[in-house]
Amino acid sequence: CGISAYIGHREAYPIVINGLKRLEYRGYDSAGVMVYNNGTMYVSKTKGKVSDLEEIVGQDEERKKGTIGMGHTRWATHGVPNDVNSHPHLSKSGNLVIVHNGIIENYDTIKKELISRGYSFKSDTDTEVLLNLIEEVKVTEGCKLGKAVQLALTNVVGAYAITVFDKTNPDEIIVARLGSPIAIGVGKDKKEFFVASDASPFVEYTKQAIYLEDEEMAIIKLGKQVKVHKINDDSIVEPTIQKLQM
Ligand code: GLU
Repeated sequence: CGISAYIGHREAYPIVINGLKRLEYRGYDSAGVMVYNNGTMYVSKTKGKVSDLEEIVGQDEERKKGTIGMGHTRWATHGVPNDVNSHPHLSKSGNLVIVHNGIIENYDTIKKELISRGYSFKSDTDTEVLLNLIEEVKVTEGCKLGKAVQLALTNVVGAYAITVFDKTNPDEIIVARLGSPIAIGVGKDKKEFFVASDASPFVEYTKQAIYLEDEEMAIIKLGKQVKVHKINDDSIVEPTIQKLQM
C-alpha cells in the first residue's frame, strides 16, 4: 500500500501516478487519484492496478489537469477490495478528501456516533469514518483543517499514514503518521512539496526530505516552512531536513 501526493506549480497527475508506480512493490489491491483544479476535486479510483487506473482516466484531460493531487494504493483491511472502497474518499460535505494507509481500530464506535449525528457512508472503510470525524470536528470547533485532523486523531486507536486536503483552503495539505511511514519532499524555494510513503516518488525532483516520526503531523503550505508538531500535546517539532543520497 502507498501514498503519493503533490502541491505546487507542475501538473500533479503524472507525478502522483508515477509515484504510485514506484510504490507498487509494497503490494496493493486497488488504486486511486484525486486531482484538484479550480474549486473541483476529480476523483478516479478502481480495484486493480495503477495501470488499470490510468486506463480508466484515459484521455479525459479534465481528470488530469491541476497542480494539486493525491494518490493511493490500497491493501484492504476494512471493506472488500472494490471501486467504492478504494481511496481517495470524500467527506459528507464533499469539501475534504483523504488517502490513508493503516487501520482505525475503533472505527465502528466512531461510525455509530457519526450516524447518530446525521452522517451516512458510501464505503465500508475505516478511512471514510476517520475523514468524517475530521469533518465533524472541523464544523463543531469551527477550526482549520490542521487542528481538526489533530483533534480527531486524538480520538483514534490504530495505525495510520494520512494525507488530507480541504478544497475550501486549497494552498495546504495535512499529513500525519502513527505506525505507517510518510516522507515529505521539500521543493525549491518551498514552491512545491511532495508527500509519499518513501522518498522514491520524489527523489528526481528534490533531495530535501522530512521523515515524520510516529505521533507527528505536518502542515504543508505553499511558500511556507513545513510545520511539524506532536499530535497529542501540540508541541512544535523542529523538522530535520535530510539530504537524500539517491
Ligand atoms: N484500512 C484502510 C482500508 O481498508 C486502508 C488500507 C491500506 O492501508 O491501504 O481502506
